[in-house]
Amino acid sequence: MIDIKDLTIEKASEMLKKGEVTSVDLTVACLKNIEARNKELNVFLEVFGDVLEQAKKADEIIKSGEAKKLTGIPIAIKDNILIIGRKVSAGSKMLENYVASYDAFVIKKLKEAGAVLIGRTNMDEFAMGSSTENSAYGPVKNPIDLTRVPGGSSGGSAAAVASGMCFGALGSDTGGSIRQPASFCGIVGMKPSYDVVSRSGVMAMASSLDQIGPFAKTSEDAKTIFDCIVGKDEMDSTSVVIEGRTFSTSIIGVPREWLKEGVDKEILENFEKSLEKLEKAGYKIKDISLPYSKYALAAYYILMPAEVSTNLSRLDGVRYGLRKEGENVFDTYKKSRSAGFGAETRRRIILGTYVLSHGYYDAYYNKAWKVRHAIEKEFENIFKEVNFVATPTTPTPAFKFGEKSDPLQMYLSDIFTVLANIAGTPTISVPSGFSSAGLPTGIQFTGPLFADESLFAIEKDLRENK
Ligand code: GLN
Repeated sequence: MIDIKDLTIEKASEMLKKGEVTSVDLTVACLKNIEARNKELNVFLEVFGDVLEQAKKADEIIKSGEAKKLTGIPIAIKDNILIIGRKVSAGSKMLENYVASYDAFVIKKLKEAGAVLIGRTNMDEFAMGSSTENSAYGPVKNPIDLTRVPGGSSGGSAAAVASGMCFGALGSDTGGSIRQPASFCGIVGMKPSYDVVSRSGVMAMASSLDQIGPFAKTSEDAKTIFDCIVGKDEMDSTSVVIEGRTFSTSIIGVPREWLKEGVDKEILENFEKSLEKLEKAGYKIKDISLPYSKYALAAYYILMPAEVSTNLSRLDGVRYGLRKEGENVFDTYKKSRSAGFGAETRRRIILGTYVLSHGYYDAYYNKAWKVRHAIEKEFENIFKEVNFVATPTTPTPAFKFGEKSDPLQMYLSDIFTVLANIAGTPTISVPSGFSSAGLPTGIQFTGPLFADESLFAIEKDLRENK
């Protein structure tokens, strides 16, 4: 039986082409790991019934010599990405039995590449959360320490990769939902530049911030998935095609003044160690100042709920979603939405409706947009001086279940990740050692708009400079 825990997509793909393994072998190995641990970890909401058929088809493609890099590779999909004919619930009771009527662009791309779609992964309801504790189907456990969260909202996808249940996964990232769980589970997670990956077929949380991106064990694997899912899509009018952007220098800016408070000591130590390794690998480290960026979290928690409240208004028991019959149409809306949405989703809808309401719109929503523009400018300027900005991915390693019962405490765990969504820039979280308790920690690199390609090399340089 083949051990896939440390097997990368790169290696597996070579083995497939040489005929050393088949896609069926790889898929069976993933299924074995799922069987062994899915009950305790609660990673997959559904493992698709036809995975072996998919693998057999992939094996035929490989035999015919037409294989691409992802042909025959098992990939897990976050439960807010549409696959035609399959259930997709966004971790919510509201859409428990909803069946997708078309393929998301990213799914079309994976299918064209012959990837094996293994199942849909658990997540915080409508991607709102940092721990998966907001899933209507129970939380995911961190495979490294079962008493701790895997991060969120794409916690299922991260835990699936970290526990060898698949080779890579797709997640969505509105304020850190790929990078934060990647760092909590010790893997690589990347959020592309806004518009580089089509959002067609992805359930909208906050449309001006949402992006789809890859999870994988290494940056080479993350790049393989990224390369597969980028591209112009007529179904998403904002989608763009980018020319790869590379730099002749490798200068990393570090906003150290921002890291003085509220960041775990061990996270900082590991962060500095990773920077030292990169220095040895030829990178230049430079202190920078980002005075506006510390307001990114405040702006995010105004803009995001505003967009959430509008995006989720269609889930009213009439057009979409669970229906609870009331005395009249308004009562039906009220009953359906109260029964279908969990507490955090309701909190954000109320908050979003409030900041958009007459009398408060200028005070909150418009002001948050001004902050967003100031941050965008700040980023534009800083990228004239440096090629990348580095921070820890999160202020602490994975926390325990129930530890952050105060919503504001939970929101603070997004302090470093929301910035790239506010600025629309590409960003990656890569492993940066372990805490003394054996918990993974992550370091995050953000590049200028459309410099997505250049981010992948950093993890390799870090990995190879021990
Ligand atoms: N944790 C953040 C939030 O709850 C980010 C979520 C996301 O990126 N989908 O809003």
